[in-house]
Amino acid sequence: MDRPFSVAVDQPVDEQLAHLRLLGRAAAAANDLPSLEQAAHLVLEDVCQHTGWPAGRLWTRSRPLPAGPDSPALVCTSVTYPDHASRGPVRPGAVAVPPVTGAVAEAASSRRVVWGAKAESWGPSTGQPDADAGLAFAFPVPAGDEVVAVLEFYGHQPGGAEEGLTELMGTVCHHLGRLVERLDVEAQLRHSERWHRLVMGSALDAIITSDAQGVIVAFNAGAERAFGYTEAEAVGQPLSCLMPSRFREAHAVGLARASRGANGDGVLVGRTTELTALHRDGEEFQIELALSEWTVDGELFYTGVVRDITERRQAEEDRSRFDHQLASRSLHDALTSLPNRALLLDRLEQALARAAREGTELALLSVNLDRFKAVNDSYGHHIGDELLVTAARRLEAAVAAGTTIARIGGDEFALLVDPGGPEEARLTAEQVSAAIAEPFVVDAMELLVTASVGMTSVTPGQGRPSADQFLRDAEIAREHSRRRGPGLTAVYDSNMRAGARARRTAEHELRVALQEGQLVLHYQPIVELASGSIVGVEALVRWEHPERGLLPPRDFVGLAEETGLIVPLGRWVLDEACRQGAAWQRNPTCSGGLRVSVNVSARQFQQPQWVDEVAASLLASGFNPALLVLEITESILMEDTETTSHRLVELRELGSRVAIDDFGTGYSSLGYLRRFPVDILKVDKSFIDGVAEGPHESALARAVIKLAATLHLDAVAEGVTTRRQVATLRRLRCRFAQGYHFARPQPVADLDALLAHQAVDLELSDATG
Ligand code: C2E
Ligand code: MG
Ligand code: MG
Repeated sequence: MDRPFSVAVDQPVDEQLAHLRLLGRAAAAANDLPSLEQAAHLVLEDVCQHTGWPAGRLWTRSRPLPAGPDSPALVCTSVTYPDHASRGPVRPGAVAVPPVTGAVAEAASSRRVVWGAKAESWGPSTGQPDADAGLAFAFPVPAGDEVVAVLEFYGHQPGGAEEGLTELMGTVCHHLGRLVERLDVEAQLRHSERWHRLVMGSALDAIITSDAQGVIVAFNAGAERAFGYTEAEAVGQPLSCLMPSRFREAHAVGLARASRGANGDGVLVGRTTELTALHRDGEEFQIELALSEWTVDGELFYTGVVRDITERRQAEEDRSRFDHQLASRSLHDALTSLPNRALLLDRLEQALARAAREGTELALLSVNLDRFKAVNDSYGHHIGDELLVTAARRLEAAVAAGTTIARIGGDEFALLVDPGGPEEARLTAEQVSAAIAEPFVVDAMELLVTASVGMTSVTPGQGRPSADQFLRDAEIAREHSRRRGPGLTAVYDSNMRAGARARRTAEHELRVALQEGQLVLHYQPIVELASGSIVGVEALVRWEHPERGLLPPRDFVGLAEETGLIVPLGRWVLDEACRQGAAWQRNPTCSGGLRVSVNVSARQFQQPQWVDEVAASLLASGFNPALLVLEITESILMEDTETTSHRLVELRELGSRVAIDDFGTGYSSLGYLRRFPVDILKVDKSFIDGVAEGPHESALARAVIKLAATLHLDAVAEGVTTRRQVATLRRLRCRFAQGYHFARPQPVADLDALLAHQAVDLELSDATG
């Protein structure tokens, strides 16, 4: 445990900082440096600089203990003279070791600081800079119950036993003591590890020695275990009894050749070889043999270190069997064991060919589990996996035998109805929907999921699509039904392909828009209700489409999210908003700058480097991080909570603030409000609409505003359109508001005119919106 240190509040700031720095360096040295001497060297120098003492030295436990009854238990191992840099620190051993007496001995035995005793042994032999009678200051370094070292300083000024310095040095020495403890533990570990290795090494391997004729002369415990003979039984026997009979002849030939001094094929000396060995009970096993030869008084011996590698061989065989199984499994999905996309396409190809040949009908369904992603994100992959497996089993049970059911990807399945026309397809779709709509019970939780289904079929005479195209048609129909709502079924028609193409075109256009700067930001003021002053703005993206005019976010943000374009789009918005924020910061009409809120999509937020990008935008623009607000939605807080909270903490460290947008419309769990560092709740327009109506209509708005107050969060009322709403919100002590009543989102030029007035007129006539 680190010792807490205190810095007196009445200390001058510089001194406080110097103390902190010294303590920080001592703690870091204790954590990281590999020896007490290195750490002490740093510390001695720092302390000399801090106190003005000209020299300091370290005394440590002498190890090994020097001989002789009078030898000191402490020796000087490091000396530092920071003021005499040309002399440098004196290396341990370079100084004649003075006997331990005086301040050092006293500090070691009393475990107490010795303050300004007469310096005794700082004579010229220690390299002391000048020998007039100075003073010694000694500080014991404790570790456990022992004093393991002493720091000694030499000075001219008597000084006082200053409390601050004593405490500071106490902490410094505590850190050095920690270092000694750490080094002791590490040394012990190293020692026990070496011991362990030694024991295990001799225990695991069999070591057998034979003479030049191949007669066993030594047989260790490892060999007894490996071969089943006792040492007494083995010694005197030929080596060949340890190998299967079929190898014995070759062995004898090799031995004979070696004994003639001819290095032939059979000689294994100096190499590691894998061989088959024979156990006493007749069982063969695989060994690895490392053979060496040596001579004693001209007589030749062989020593073999033998390792049983049966298990390793077994593992290798298992692996190759496993690889083989993998190859066959590559046509099936590992989780559900259903055929995968590759196998489906293969069967589809054959089925389409046969249907064309024989003039039969064929149908294909593409199925997606709605809300699966939400389940997976909220409850974890383990629940998600179980849900998928159960869904797969239900599909198998629900549809007619002979229907191929494949898992195509994440939560996508496909069903091949062969033979089957539109009627069979519709029937199968109904069966699928019903099977999935039944509640799933996973881990004692009831989960409700629905299936979106798209289907397509071929009838004779219609031409023959490719397997790929056929599957894509079913998927296009499924996406079509998904866009209309969960749990629906759609039948593919060729217009859908046109729709899919149109979306691809839109995606392309949006990409171009990003590249060519067709996006703009409009800003909507956020007003402090008490004063009417504009305290901030929300940046809202618009697309200046070359043909279709100014497009609101609902016309393209969804598409950007679907396609991933939201990531570069969001990056642009952030850069642009920070740039504009910095411009307002410099503008004298906005004294103190304006808060700028930026909307962030889940997909953006999930990018690992997103917070770095926020930091980069801030840095590049010079916009004050404290003026940036990031608006996220409740759904983000429901996902992967660990990463989310990490991101939020990082944002807070940047100094920026986080708002929850459209608060109240998302998930109803409020637990996350306590868990995550958020600053602002933006109360959704749907609550504000009724706030000035009866007590029932306004109840939710009131509750949300109160909740914000309890959690010390700022509340911003969204979509305020009437004077009565303003009056009610003021009464409810909602601090901030935003809405057409005050101002619509507008380009920078228009907003600047408004800002010049500093405030909006709260009594403006009611807005429509
Ligand atoms: P939001 O973040 O909740 O933004 C507020 C929306 O409410 C804006 O719509 C604003 O024009 C509208 N609004 C404000 N006051 C009133 C009012 O009094 N009455 C009515 N009827 N509406 C009002 P807008 O600009 O169409 O933006 C819609 C949504 O698009 C935003 O909702 C936000 O979720 C999203 N969005 C806008 N810009 C971005 C962006 O840069 N990135 C991302 N990811 N999403 C954005
Ligand atoms: Mg917003
Ligand atoms: Mg909102």
